[in-house]
Amino acid sequence: MLDKQQTKRLIQVALLPSCIGIASHALSGLADETWKPFLEHILPAVSRSWLLLLVLLLCVVCCLLAILLWMRSYFDVRRDCDLLTERGFYRAKKTGDLYCGACAAVHRTTPLKRSLNGCMWECPFPDCNATYDRLASDAKPQDR
Ligand SMILES: [Zn+2]
Repeated sequence: MLDKQQTKRLIQVALLPSCIGIASHALSGLADETWKPFLEHILPAVSRSWLLLLVLLLCVVCCLLAILLWMRSYFDVRRDCDLLTERGFYRAKKTGDLYCGACAAVHRTTPLKRSLNGCMWECPFPDCNATYDRLASDAKPQDR
């Protein structure tokens, strides 16, 4: 006898391949109807140099998309954090980590560190050395 969790897991394991199979069967028929005229009539009429140019153009577009996705996946303080204007530094939306506002102004990502006496936030970047007052509300729940 299967318990509720095992049944749920079995349904999840069986449902995904079933859905993929049904979708691929439906799309394969559609793809045949869509590509058939292209393969029979249009492709033979296009010269090889134009085909190579199209393939090259497609590769360039794919590379540009990959670069765009790669750039978008980078952590950006000004995009991925909230600016605490009254405090002068940034707080990450997902993690709650704090980042130096002075460094962010020059497009540098520098996480703040607690000072030795624990009363301040310090920027560890050598040319910055910005400090910010530390409040109890700044710390993440596990740091308090
Ligand atoms: Zn800094």
